[in-house]
Amino acid sequence: MNRTDFSRITDIFDREHLWHPYTSATNPLPAYKVREAHGCTIVLEDGTGLIDGMSSWWCAIHGYNHPVLNDALRRQAEKMSHVMFGGLTHEPAIELGKTLLEILPDEFSHIFYADSGSVAVEVAMKMAVQYHYACGHPQKTNFVTIRSGYHGDTWNAMSVCDPVTGMHSIFGTALPVRYFVPSPQSRFGSEWNQDDIAPLEEIIEKHHDDIAALILEPVVQGAGGMRFYNPEYLRQAVSLCRRYNVLVIFDEIATGFGRTGKLFAWEHAGVKPDIMCIGKSLTGGYMTLSAVLTTDEVAGAISGNYPYAFMHGPTFMANPLACAVAKASVDLLLSKDWKVKVLSMEAQMKRELAPAASFPNVADVRVLGAIGVIETREPVDMAWMQKRFIEEGIWVRPFGRLVYIMPPFIITTGELSALTSSLLKITGELQAR
Ligand code: PMP
Repeated sequence: MNRTDFSRITDIFDREHLWHPYTSATNPLPAYKVREAHGCTIVLEDGTGLIDGMSSWWCAIHGYNHPVLNDALRRQAEKMSHVMFGGLTHEPAIELGKTLLEILPDEFSHIFYADSGSVAVEVAMKMAVQYHYACGHPQKTNFVTIRSGYHGDTWNAMSVCDPVTGMHSIFGTALPVRYFVPSPQSRFGSEWNQDDIAPLEEIIEKHHDDIAALILEPVVQGAGGMRFYNPEYLRQAVSLCRRYNVLVIFDEIATGFGRTGKLFAWEHAGVKPDIMCIGKSLTGGYMTLSAVLTTDEVAGAISGNYPYAFMHGPTFMANPLACAVAKASVDLLLSKDWKVKVLSMEAQMKRELAPAASFPNVADVRVLGAIGVIETREPVDMAWMQKRFIEEGIWVRPFGRLVYIMPPFIITTGELSALTSSLLKITGELQAR
């Protein structure tokens, strides 16, 4: 059965010297060498083509090597790749900014460009603290969040990740201590249980004097467990925050740009945050860029009081290459009937992944928008599963008890069926091992 020669698609230098995410430096899980990628296919060093189920961690919504994005990148590189944003500005930043404000509600008026998702979260948290400082509440410096969240790997972002999966125990007292409440148990599409909001209500009532903001991923909790929760939670959480002068930060880094079936996931609830982070598919997965968007109220307060400036200014802020590609990527998305496509992916995944629900080793199967999840009862053997997926010609990277896909929106129904049928097949094999 095993025809793949895995020695031809791994690299000894890489294995010995390059650190990969969340694996040992000295005894790492295999990393497969990619020669090129186009459309919905990742091509390994030996020519093996894999149908991509991951969009490179939520990013590559238009697939790989897209002529429109390539062109935007090339054209911008011929003009300038980078200039500092302190005291200078440029067309790509301005044009991207105009487009972002057009697709967001009128309340959003100010944009801070940052380097990555984690940095956007840092920026958003600093913004919330600086807002309260400017408003004469310097003691409001802490944050409340829900368990099973994931917001990135930098210090403050890590502090609001789920304390167990985020491994707070390793970093001990060096990590700021946040208020955590249980994540909502009412699932997306199921009945709302009013008890879900009680823990947040209690914490905010008791501690609002020192809480700057509530931060959470709206509707879909990604890397912290791929959970889809009832949007009513957001409605009630936002109204609580308004009552107690606590800002709301929505981390839309994974969910933004159509992934959940809405352009932004908060649209499922119809309530808006004060500060919102976007990243990942902002550039169609071409390079790292994020943005933090906020209101006149927040930007005005920060700018109207000492130190009259927001205290953050990354070297590569508003990198022109990244902004040009992001502008092209957002335009490309909006030029297509992306919602119809995402909803048809949703219907297909619901249909094709459903049989896994009856597997004895499967605890749950759930689909929302272009995200399909099979949750197993026990953690999977990632190295084994990944090899089997490659032999089946698909690229899927499970973690823990989650075998999930979030393919590029350009995937064909045939390619998506190949993904789902291989997922069922290998999950079935997992059971037999
Ligand atoms: N927030 C969310 C919801 C994410 O999914 C991620 C990345 N997985 C981040 C923040 C961090 O983004 P980055 O990896 O670009 O720093």
